[in-house]
Amino acid sequence: MSLTTSQALQSLLDEGDRTTLSGIFPERVCFDEPLAPYTSWRIGGPADALVNVESEEELAQLMRFCFKRHLPWLVLGSGSNVLVGDGGVRGIVIRLGGCFTAISVRLEGKHVIAEAGASVGMAALTAKAASAGASGIGSLSGIPGTLGGSLRMNAGTDREVGDFVREVWVQSPSKPEPHAVSLQYYYRHTTLEHDAVVSRVTLAFERGDPAEVRAEMQERLVRRKRTQPIALPNAGSCFRNPPGDKAARLIEAVGAKGWREGEAEVSPLHANFINNLGRASAKDVATLLARVRRAVSDRCGVDLQLEVHLIGVFVDG
Ligand SMILES: Cc1cc2nc3c(=O)[nH]c(=O)nc-3n(C[C@H](O)[C@H](O)[C@H](O)COP(=O)(O)OP(=O)(O)OC[C@H]3O[C@@H](n4cnc5c(N)ncnc54)[C@H](O)[C@@H]3O)c2cc1C
Repeated sequence: MSLTTSQALQSLLDEGDRTTLSGIFPERVCFDEPLAPYTSWRIGGPADALVNVESEEELAQLMRFCFKRHLPWLVLGSGSNVLVGDGGVRGIVIRLGGCFTAISVRLEGKHVIAEAGASVGMAALTAKAASAGASGIGSLSGIPGTLGGSLRMNAGTDREVGDFVREVWVQSPSKPEPHAVSLQYYYRHTTLEHDAVVSRVTLAFERGDPAEVRAEMQERLVRRKRTQPIALPNAGSCFRNPPGDKAARLIEAVGAKGWREGEAEVSPLHANFINNLGRASAKDVATLLARVRRAVSDRCGVDLQLEVHLIGVFVDG
């Protein structure tokens, strides 16, 4: 069954839901909240409800509520790998704060161990771990996401988050209490259940020389600044690299650098990035993504796959 546009834009929360959520999360629930400010692209329509959850108990309570009311929900980290539709998100968008921002780093024999909540930013995590000499952490530096989002995406460069994971704790509507899970990690995805919220993660690194680790990290950050449009709103690489090739190389080869739709532009600096030049809509970006994908398919015979996650309702006009 397909929905009409006006049905797709209608809030799924009734007055009772709103009252219940306001009761459980006073001051920490916003209704009909535009999501653009919560994404690195600065794009996206309103969520029926945006809830800031501060503890595992609160998350369990919210999971139970969603389960009981059959409400759709999703969790947003830094929003640095998502394109949120202009029609927004029906149901509940969860953001993690409070205890989910805790981080501790310790030495354990030949290892550096980092225990962190899912909402810890990768910038804070990498800086702290580097100071303790966490070898290999440079490969995770400069990724502007949270640890939870980065685990979901198995984010990284030459090495990925999954290479360092010791333990992952999750919560879900069918099993709301925090529990450890064992996962497989692949290029930009994992076997993490679709309905699991990562609540905390333990990472283990070989112990190296802190000065060397910090210097390597710094070098990588400088390279990033030179090769990526990090000052503009974007979501990093839009497409996954196809086996044995680079999406950016293919996009550049079809001459797409600088292509525009509305206020969305294929970055002249890095062909796999799309910048929001001001007031780009999700529709602008989606149209540009489709145009690039078609050009690469027609001229290079490669079907590029999206790396960014599309979220919510995409509408015309
Ligand atoms: C300038 C720039 C550079 C980038 N460079 C890189 C790079 O080098 N390598 C790389 O891999 N990526 C890169 N990215 C993409 C992005 O930063 C990563 O994918 C990051 O890991 C996403 O984290 P996030 O918190 O922003 O996730 P979000 O964008 O908020 O969410 C991404 C997905 O994860 C889910 N999610 C978020 N939090 C949780 C959670 N706690 N539990 C379960 N699911 C969750 C969301 O529902 C969504 O499906 C870059 C992005 C930008 C803007």
